[in-house]
Amino acid sequence: MNLELSEEQTAVQRLAREFTDREIAPYAAAWDRAESVDRAIVKKLGDLGFLGLTVPEEYGGSGGDHLSYVLVAEELGRGDSSVRGIVSVSLGLVAKTVAAWGDEDQKRQWLPRLCSGEALGCFGLTEPGTGSDAGALTTRAVRAGGDAYVVNGSKMFITNGTWADVVLLFARTGDEPGHRGISAFLVPADSPGLTRREIRGKLGLRGQATAELVLEDVRVPASAMLGPEGKGFSVAMSALAKGRMSVAAGCVGIARAALEAAVSYAAGREQFGKPIARHQLVQELIADISVDVDAARLLTWRVADLIDRGRPFATESATAKLFASEAAVRAAGNALQVHGGYGYVDEYPAGKLLRDARVMTLYEGTSQIQKLLIGRARTGVSAF
Ligand code: FAD
Repeated sequence: MNLELSEEQTAVQRLAREFTDREIAPYAAAWDRAESVDRAIVKKLGDLGFLGLTVPEEYGGSGGDHLSYVLVAEELGRGDSSVRGIVSVSLGLVAKTVAAWGDEDQKRQWLPRLCSGEALGCFGLTEPGTGSDAGALTTRAVRAGGDAYVVNGSKMFITNGTWADVVLLFARTGDEPGHRGISAFLVPADSPGLTRREIRGKLGLRGQATAELVLEDVRVPASAMLGPEGKGFSVAMSALAKGRMSVAAGCVGIARAALEAAVSYAAGREQFGKPIARHQLVQELIADISVDVDAARLLTWRVADLIDRGRPFATESATAKLFASEAAVRAAGNALQVHGGYGYVDEYPAGKLLRDARVMTLYEGTSQIQKLLIGRARTGVSAF
């Protein structure tokens, strides 16, 4: 693995860094308080090519590599995890999955709009009764007359849910138990019978539109099925394996923001007659954050490198996600500690970083689920 970035990778990193400094970081605290990022950010992300970064150019994407994607996710995550999540879901979980599993018509229908930001995607796997055990989902798609399915059920905690134009929806089409009876569909979000309710009052990621989706007799053409019938669980797992890499990259961004905030505060705050940066135990907090940034970044880059070289990467992706998410929580907590009581009020960024980091150990598979995935890979024995 070459740790030297190419000219192209350096350029996209610089673009994302400058965009984050100019268009995201200055507004992140206000968006957090308002519980919504400015929706105009979606078009800007599209204009820069970030929403189609790894999608082939023939479908409107930039055809970039996965290391470039990780560099962008880190920068966006440094500015605001809510914005990073918009990209990770619409591009990483939806557009990339359409590119990998879609037929020509599906790619032409959705990818150019998703890449430009004209349309957003959301990923509908979790249900009120099934999270970690996603293979037990109960939303049902029943074959009806006229080459269509009728879908009934509900989905919970769906990122981009109220903003999305298309839902990558997972529903049971067969009577086989568990993951075998599940199929994936691309469902237009304005389909009659599909209603969306925004979930407010989240601990973090407040700027992000998270929603519950209810489907009542939603008619979906058979041509909207993504991938073969009964292979929906494989579609979902392939999406999440890559998705975990971008969550990990976003966590590197959180930890980096924590490092920058802690260093800056420690240089200016004086106690016992000297800047707190000169107290060894404060330096220990900062050193711990710094190690977490580096270790999380290297684990994340390894995943991107494996994907770009066409090698297996799922266990490495779970490893990066597990470590980086726990590291982001640790780093944000350490940054808050450096700020003392001032870390506890939202005039300073540490509190928001900690709130935003906390969900990273929960979604796209909790830390416990990542450990089970890694344990299964190492032992050859499944604990599921
Ligand atoms: P549960 O599965 O009920 O788990 C509860 C606890 O039990 C956890 O600690 C878990 O680790 C533990 N546990 C469960 N099973 C095991 C086991 N076998 N061994 C050990 N411990 C276990 N979902 C989507 O489909 N699309 C989205 O876009 C999306 N976005 C989200 C955004 C936010 C802000 C949040 C909070 C969630 C989002 N989710 C999304 C859902 C998320 O992926 C789930 O919340 C997550 O998978 C956990 O499921 P659960 O909440 O049902 O918890």
